[in-house]
Amino acid sequence: MNKLFSAFIMATLFFFTNVALAEEHHSEKKSFKVTELKPGFQFLQGKGGNILLSEGKDGLLIVDSDYSEMTPALLETLAKYKSELKYVLNTHWHGDHTQGNKELGKSAEIIAHDNVYQRLNSHQEVKLFNMVSKPYPADALPDITFDHSLTLRFNDETIKALHLPNGHTDGDSIIFFEKANIVHMGDHLFNGMFPFVDVGTNGSVRGMVTNIDGILDHIADDTIVVPGHGAISNKEELLAFRDMLVGTSNEVEMMMQQNMSLEAMQEKGLSEQWKVWGNGFLNEKVWIGIIHSSLTASLQTQDTAK
Ligand SMILES: [Zn+2]
Repeated sequence: MNKLFSAFIMATLFFFTNVALAEEHHSEKKSFKVTELKPGFQFLQGKGGNILLSEGKDGLLIVDSDYSEMTPALLETLAKYKSELKYVLNTHWHGDHTQGNKELGKSAEIIAHDNVYQRLNSHQEVKLFNMVSKPYPADALPDITFDHSLTLRFNDETIKALHLPNGHTDGDSIIFFEKANIVHMGDHLFNGMFPFVDVGTNGSVRGMVTNIDGILDHIADDTIVVPGHGAISNKEELLAFRDMLVGTSNEVEMMMQQNMSLEAMQEKGLSEQWKVWGNGFLNEKVWIGIIHSSLTASLQTQDTAK
């Protein structure tokens, strides 16, 4: 086994150990932590992606649906509201945001970007996590899809889903609740942690920065920002996350220009100011690996375009 590959495996193993420990911890009790953001809006934290719930005269609507194993707990939480679940919006295709569709989609309408439909309807892989996603059953696929944006009027709200191209994946949307001034960022925000960027499904670290810049222009200091992962957030923290993406990818790019191997980059590490971001989800070595693969992929695209 060459050194570079073994360093990558070590970093991956480190990550999986953390995930295994987290799973062990979670298996004790599967439930959602529910926090009211504003009247009619609840923030649901389970195991996978954060869920935003809208509750009102038209019924219930949720953004994202967590893992299958969380479905019983999710149904239990939703049952407390007495009204019916009408819509499930998916921010992107990853299982920790969509597996709940399999049960919820039997009665509710699912809305997502066209690429979410395509990916859920076919075999997908995330090599970094050794994850395989089989085609979802028909009920679990989006019923309504859009290519650029979609507006839904529900519970006296204007809800806008806006596609963000080539960021975390190629099919991400943010969901904006205009009156309530709440935005669900999907995985365009891992609050306070290095994020996963799915380069294998056309995600890009630099693309994520461009997308976030567009969002920052359109939200206010008091907008409630719901991250895909991590605690409830705001514009200031979204800006800090954006600056981390820029700062860390510039550092990796500089090391690449010095022809350093991935292993050498991971050995050297990032500058001190970014260390704290490695304590949440992915460690620094894995994050350097993701930036490296993202920048390499965009160099290859530029080469073929020439
Ligand atoms: Zn994701």
